[in-house]
Amino acid sequence: MSKYPLLTVNHEALKSNMTQVVSWCREAGIDVAGVIKVSSGMPSFALDYEACGAKWIASSRLEQLQRARDAGVKIPLMMIRVPMLSEIEEMIEVCDYSLESEFAAIKAIEEAGAHTGKSHNVILMADLGDLREGFFELEELVDVAKYVEDKCDFVHLAGIGTNLGCYGSVMPTKEKMEQLVSYAEAIERAIGRQLEIISGGATSSLMPLFDGVMPERVNMLRIGAISACGPKEDLRTAYGRTEVDCMRDDAFTLEAELIELRTKATHPIGQLGVDAFGQKPKYKDRGMRRRALIAIGRVDYGDTGDLFPETPGAEIVGASGDHTIVDIEDCKEIIRVGDIMRFKLCYSSIMRLTASENVKIKEVGQTEI
Ligand SMILES: *Cc1c(COP(=O)(O)O)cnc(C)c1O
Repeated sequence: MSKYPLLTVNHEALKSNMTQVVSWCREAGIDVAGVIKVSSGMPSFALDYEACGAKWIASSRLEQLQRARDAGVKIPLMMIRVPMLSEIEEMIEVCDYSLESEFAAIKAIEEAGAHTGKSHNVILMADLGDLREGFFELEELVDVAKYVEDKCDFVHLAGIGTNLGCYGSVMPTKEKMEQLVSYAEAIERAIGRQLEIISGGATSSLMPLFDGVMPERVNMLRIGAISACGPKEDLRTAYGRTEVDCMRDDAFTLEAELIELRTKATHPIGQLGVDAFGQKPKYKDRGMRRRALIAIGRVDYGDTGDLFPETPGAEIVGASGDHTIVDIEDCKEIIRVGDIMRFKLCYSSIMRLTASENVKIKEVGQTEI
């Protein structure tokens, strides 16, 4: 079997990024939950995070958390997608913490805990306007917090959290962070004690931290993307934050093989209907140009915009499920059939490539346990 397409995971680069994230957060009194879903839960990614000082390993999938534990991760595990009722028994077996936004789920955790005698820590989610998960009204959030505090023996109210910038594109501003702290304080008044955790969001919540406006009481961030992608992540690409330029973009690199090399027309010839995905793309006529066909496709990485050729002058012009078309007319170097093309990646392509069964994975510089 061919070794291509090949995804190389450079753990030195990964750990350099994770160490930077942990150090930024530590300076602001914040602990990091290392989110591993960007790598489809590679256990080695979790071990790197633990080695670099993360306090929790977090994922949206129990399978990924279980694999991390089996691989030797010792720190607490946290489920960060609010759970299905049908997985709660398994959840309290596998992990110690979870994000919660439904009363029914909390009651199910209590019931399951009563059977096993095991206590579980919950972080109640407040929806501050991004409109994915979370309690929408402060009153309901406080009521449920009080219920957990007073009525549950096997559910421990560890704190509250929020998530921003996922559905609603809402930015984690100073105001949103202060609102989260004020929600925490409302709960604290109702239950008569301090909450241990105020979880201020994901990678995007590094922005208020960079700006020095993160409220002191926010003490957890749940971070995945930036560690995997470095500057090829929204903080740089969408928000122009140059703080992340010190991070490495070579933690994940894709290599794929060139299978056809030819000069062809750039505009399709014939009556045009729809492409492989039922779309009607616009084609620009640039005359005859030299282009390469690469043996990897959208089934493996998703969208062509999430793949960045390292070859100077190369430009991806399109792709189907298993083929990628790269314009190489402007490339200076000699290119032949059988050559390997290298690509840098971003969040969604890393997430998909690590899950693709067509892609081989090579890991270098792994953390020993
Ligand atoms: C995915 C996710 C994160 C991590 O987000 P990144 O952008 O990868 O840092 C944090 N919290 C929740 C609830 C998530 O779903």
